[in-house]
Amino acid sequence: MPSVFIGHGSPMNALQANRFTRAWRELGRSLPRPRAILAVSAHWYADETRVTAMSHPRVIHDFSGFPQELFAFRYPADGSPELACEVLDLARPAPVRLDRDSWGLDHGTWSVLAHVFPDADVPVVQLSIHAGAPLEYHLDLGRRLAPLRDSGVLILGSGNVVHNLRLVDFRAQDQGYDWAVRFDHEVRRIMQTRPWDIASVLSHPDARLAVPTPEHFLPLVYLCGLCAQAEQAATAFAEGATFGSLTMTSFLLGGISAPIATPPDARTSA
Ligand code: ZN
Repeated sequence: MPSVFIGHGSPMNALQANRFTRAWRELGRSLPRPRAILAVSAHWYADETRVTAMSHPRVIHDFSGFPQELFAFRYPADGSPELACEVLDLARPAPVRLDRDSWGLDHGTWSVLAHVFPDADVPVVQLSIHAGAPLEYHLDLGRRLAPLRDSGVLILGSGNVVHNLRLVDFRAQDQGYDWAVRFDHEVRRIMQTRPWDIASVLSHPDARLAVPTPEHFLPLVYLCGLCAQAEQAATAFAEGATFGSLTMTSFLLGGISAPIATPPDARTSA
C-alpha cells in the first residue's frame, strides 16, 4: 500500500473543487482499496502519542469563523479499534495511549478524505502528534508503522510543508511568497532524493518563516520515516502555494497503477 502526505490548506477545501482537491480525488481513484486509514493530522497536537480507538469516531469541527455549511459537514467513517491496537504494538517501546472517548476525526483528516474517499466507507483511525517529542521521535515512529503498509493500511500525513497563518494573504489565492516557494522547493528536493534527511531542511534560511510552529510540518516526517524503512524516495504531486504563506505540495511513497493529476502550472524540482 502506498503512503501519502497531503497539504490540506483551508478547511473549506472539504466543500470546494479546485486543482488540489481534484488531485486528491485522482489519488483516491488510483490507490488500491485500503482495509483502513491511519491519519496523522496536524490538528491533533497532544502531550503524548494517542490513537483513536472508538468504533464510531465523532467528526470534530475544530475551527471558527467558517460558514455554517462547513460545521454541518459530516464524514461518517467507522473507526477501527483493531488497528488502534496494532499501532500500539508496533510503536513499542514508545508508549501510545488508546483514546476511546476524547478525540475523533478532525478537519486535517476529513477535509482531505472527503475527496480521497468521498463515500467514507474505509475505517479511519487518527494518531496524535506528541508535541513534546523531538523530530527524531516522529521519524522513528513513522518507521515502526511500516508493517501496516503490507497489511493494506493507508498511512496519511495531513499538514502543510509551508504553514504561516500570521502572514496569510487571502488575495493571493494561487500564489506564494518567494520564501515560501524557495522552502517548498528545498523540501521537494529532499523528499525526492533523501527524505530521511528531512531534519536538515530546518536549518534552511527560510525555515523560520515557513515552519514557525512544528505541527503542520511533523505529519510529513512520518512519511519520511516510512521512506527510510522502504529505502525509497517520495514523489511530489498537487504542488503549489496558496494564500501566500501556505504550500499544498503533497508526497506519495510507493507505486500506484495510475498517474496522479499534477496541475500543468506546477513547478517541478530539479
Ligand atoms: Zn491545518
